[in-house]
Amino acid sequence: NAVPSDAKNLRVKLVLLGDSGVGKSCIVLRFVRGQFDATSKVTVGASFLSQTIALQDSTTVKFEIWDTAGQERYSALAPLYYRGAGVAVIVYDITSPESFKKAQYWVKELQKHGSPDIVMALVGNKADLHEKREVATEDGMELAEKNGMFFIETSAKTADNINQLFEEIGKRLPRPPS
Ligand code: GDP
Ligand code: MG
Repeated sequence: NAVPSDAKNLRVKLVLLGDSGVGKSCIVLRFVRGQFDATSKVTVGASFLSQTIALQDSTTVKFEIWDTAGQERYSALAPLYYRGAGVAVIVYDITSPESFKKAQYWVKELQKHGSPDIVMALVGNKADLHEKREVATEDGMELAEKNGMFFIETSAKTADNINQLFEEIGKRLPRPPS
């Protein structure tokens, strides 16, 4: 839930969900540090990063980003992870239909157990691997539309649409009454 320090400065917990290997940690690293490390292995240890952005209406949003240390393999732990989250980013890999199936699972899971005003985004990552694409853009769009989510395809490798992802989430956060 967006916790306002004041009406112009929002602060929100953001979690990333999705199969291991879809690029969650790389998306966060690209957004927060502007880096991409192709050799990075599975995240070691839970990681917490924060990044503040300014929107065009001069609102600032501080994202408190929780990245899993591979606990995504243990679905039972997930509710602990997304408790209190104002934003859930569900990530799949456009070259992996399997990961898209898992994304559909997470959408259902969050609708059942997530907080009712959570902002959900669906992200098709690894868009740079277009020659290996196995999930059509339309399939992502359709899943998102049906569930009232924002949808975007990104590449943590090329940085394509990474900042746009977080800006669009920022725009969709509930604003405190003024
Ligand atoms: P996580 O398990 O979801 O956190 O996935 P990681 O962020 O650790 O990424 C898994 C693998 O995918 C790594 O080898 C990354 O280099 C690679 N990867 C992540 N994002 C991209 C991307 O946008 N494009 C390409 N080509 N590879 C990516
Ligand atoms: Mg990771």
